[in-house]
Order: sequence, then structure tokens, then C-alpha cells
Amino acid sequence: MTTQAPTTLLDAITVAPEGGRPIPDAATGETMGHAPVHTVADLDAAITAARAAQPSWAALGHEKRSEILRRAADEIEAHAEELARIVAQEQGKPLNGMGARFEAGGAAVWVRSAADTPLEPEVLFEAEGTRSELHYGPLGVVGAISPWNWPALIATWQIAPSLRMGNTVVAKPSEYTPLSVLALIELLNRHLPEGVLTGISGDREIGAALASHDGVDKVMFTGSTKTGREIVKGSANNLARLTLELGGNDPGIVLPGTDAAAIAENLFWGIFINTGQTCASLKRLYVHDSVYDDVVAELAKLAESMPLGAGLDEDSLLGPLSNKQQFDIVSRMVADARARGARIVVGGEAAPELGPHFYRPTIVADIEDGATLVDEEQFGPAVPVIRYSDVEDAIARANSSEQALGASVWGDPDEARKIAERIESGTVWINQHGTLNPLVPFGGIKGSGYGLEFGEHGLKAVGAPKVITT
Ligand code: NAD
Repeated sequence: MTTQAPTTLLDAITVAPEGGRPIPDAATGETMGHAPVHTVADLDAAITAARAAQPSWAALGHEKRSEILRRAADEIEAHAEELARIVAQEQGKPLNGMGARFEAGGAAVWVRSAADTPLEPEVLFEAEGTRSELHYGPLGVVGAISPWNWPALIATWQIAPSLRMGNTVVAKPSEYTPLSVLALIELLNRHLPEGVLTGISGDREIGAALASHDGVDKVMFTGSTKTGREIVKGSANNLARLTLELGGNDPGIVLPGTDAAAIAENLFWGIFINTGQTCASLKRLYVHDSVYDDVVAELAKLAESMPLGAGLDEDSLLGPLSNKQQFDIVSRMVADARARGARIVVGGEAAPELGPHFYRPTIVADIEDGATLVDEEQFGPAVPVIRYSDVEDAIARANSSEQALGASVWGDPDEARKIAERIESGTVWINQHGTLNPLVPFGGIKGSGYGLEFGEHGLKAVGAPKVITT
């Protein structure tokens, strides 16, 4: 009997229904494929293989590893459309706009950037015949644990720099979006030596076992603040170094006298990118009294006109919530806002005619701090717009959150710049929100975690610092 070789990327990663985990299409709820269900024994085997493969991977040196990563980036590019369609179906984001095609293309860009970023030894001290240099070598095995909102892109951010630095990687995607990450790993593995990168598909227990495993030297974690705390506890076992990219409740401040129409589109996408399911999207908007009504009206106009539909529909620019859990969180927070007397300007309801987890883009006005929609991360298409009259008060409220991932200030660039300096956050954008650049470090402070990703800082974060003094 002959077995047929898989013809598509999705075929290559899905397993037979028996024993596999059914993965729903985010828009329809229908099964789109089955993911493997790996066990702790599979995890142990993957880590053993990663440890065995690591010395020879490290011995290839930066140049050779970068060359392999560039070939892997070409492979992602060659299959970007297939990868994008898996992401659009599994996670739900539309193919177009800042959606699934952007995510698949971004994965190639970030792999190439990890390969191309120079990292020279730093001379720390040189005088009187003594010279101290700081070098970065590999740490060993990296455990990469990722969330469901930008599954392929975030896994890339964890995997690519780790590999470039000579580490080997065991990657655990979210149980909601394993196929997007397994597809990415399949493409990378067409160029990597055996054992260097393994995907382990499982739930939170497998994630916990990976994070605290004796064979892991570094954990790259992106997910909620609650899980981040568990990861920190787990690291007491293996003393693994941690990069924690945790939740955000990003504030935006619109300054007095700002032209609402001029900022409306950037503001809208700063809030609604990936239908609001983005760590560093704008999640609470403080608007000065003088421009409040105009900003609310402009946002409402865009929300009402934005096409909402399935990820695979070429016309969609907003999609469903990715899963029922997140749909319930958003529905509950909007209901709480309504019960407190906030004004639902547009949206405020599900769109069941489109599928089980669609929620209309929602602008909530006349709401105050204290409502869950303001105080907690909604991670969905509903934004609270809070009125303020004193800029000092807006800054204090922006800084009052436990989370501090991103923030933005909108208005006159010079005024905004002064305020940016006073905001407690990993990144502050001016007249934009959430834009990322593979060469510019990204990371949170306070409850949004610690450590940096991207560029030279990102490479150092997955490297072992070593001082050589002669
Ligand atoms: P989550 O914390 O529930 O899950 C993230 C991953 O951790 C999943 O793979 C999950 O299986 C695994 N996991 C769960 N419990 C674990 C444990 N005890 N030990 C180890 N692993 C465990 O988060 P989520 O719901 O998938 O993602 C949404 C959250 O992620 C939001 O809060 C969002 O803001 C945040 N996020 C942050 C960034 C960032 O860069 N800061 C980026 C994207 C998402």
C-alpha cells in the first residue's frame, strides 16, 4: 500500500481525527482540521532531542545559522498565502488589512531580521593593558510558549532570535491555535537540522511542564499576566531565564484642540487591529472635553462602516472573536458598562447571523474608570471612551493600571512628546498606536512583564552573556 504525500501545508500538519484535537474554524465553528495531542512523554523526548542537537547547531556559528534562517524565511514567503489562510481560518483575522496576510508576511520579515541583525562583542573597558569584552553565546534550550491572537507572528518572535543565537527550541502554541504555529514550524523545519526546533501541541498542563522542565534554560512566554505569574513560579525549579510579554491595558490620551477627523483612522486601527485582540492595542481612550463629541462621532462612523465577516472573506476588515472564552469576556464587559449607565454609541451586541463569535465593533461613551471595560483588558472590539478636562488627571489615570505595555498620545506632536515622557509604559506612540518594527525593541513594564524582544536587544535576551578579560 502506498501513502500519499501531503499536498498542502494544512495536510502536512493535521492528524487523523482519532486521537487528534478538533480545531474549529473561528468564523463558523466547524472543524477545519485536527491537531496532534502531545503528552509529557512527547515533551521529554522533544527536550532530549533539542539538548542533543544544540551543540552542533551552536557550532555552526552566526553566519551559517543566519544563512539557514534566510532560506527558511524564503520558504515562509513561498508559502505565505497558505499560511495566511490557515491563520485566517483558525484565529479568525481577515486576510486583508493588518490581517492574516500581514501576519504571514511578517513572519518572514522577522525571521530575516533575526538572521541579519549584527551582534558584535562590546568592549566594556580598555586601559593599562586590560581589555574586557562582553560576548553573547547560546543559553541552551529555549521553551517558547505563545498565545492565540497572533499565533504565527508571536511564535516567530520567540523562535527566530533563539535559533539565531545558537539555541534549540521547543515551541508550545496555544491550544486554540496550534495549526498556525505547527504550519510555521513545518516551513522552518524544511531547512533546520533534526531536533533543532520541535512543536509540542497541548494545553496549559503541557505549557506548565515545559516552563518548569529541568532541560530548559530559557522561557520565552507571551500570554496573560495571570499565566505569567505561574511561569515565574515554575522557573524556581529550573532557574530558567524569562522573557515575559504579558497582557496590556493600553491607554490613549487625546489632547485638547486635536483635529478628530485627522486622527480618526489611525486611532480606529490602533484600537481595532485584529478586532481588538492585540496585546498592544489601544484599550481605554481618554479624550479631552473640548474634542470628546467629535472623536466619539468619528470613531462611530468608522465602526459602522467597517466590513465585518469571516477571515477567509476577501471583503472583511474585522473578524470574529477567536474563541468563545473571549467572546464571553467582551459580552460581559459591555453588559457591565451598559448596566452602569454608559452610552453604547454603536455596536454593543453580537452578530449571530455571521457566526457564533461575532461581536459588532463597539464604541462606549460616558463611562468612567471603575467599570471592568476600563480597568481590565477586554481583548476585543469594544472600546471605552472616557472624558477628561485636566491633562494631569488623564496622565494619572493612564498610569493607574497594573498593566504597562503600550500607550499613545494624540495631538500636537511637541505637546504629546512632553506627556509621553511622563507615561509609565514599555512603549509610548505619538499619533499612532501599536506599530512595531523588527529593529526596535518591544516589551512591557509593571504587570505587562519584563524583557525585550526584537533587534539587538532581542538577540541579547536569548543569549548567555560572557565577559572575557585579557
Ligand atoms: P494565556 O496566558 O491563557 O495562554 C498563553 C499560553 O500559555 C498558551 O499556550 C497556554 O496554553 C499556555 N499556558 C497556560 N497556562 C500555563 C501555565 N501554567 N504554564 C505555562 N504555560 C501555560 O493567554 P492567551 O489567552 O492565549 O493570550 C491572551 C493574552 O496574551 C492577553 O492578555 C494578551 O494581552 C497577552 N499577549 C501579550 C503580548 C505581548 O507581547 N505582551 C502579545 C500577545 C498577547
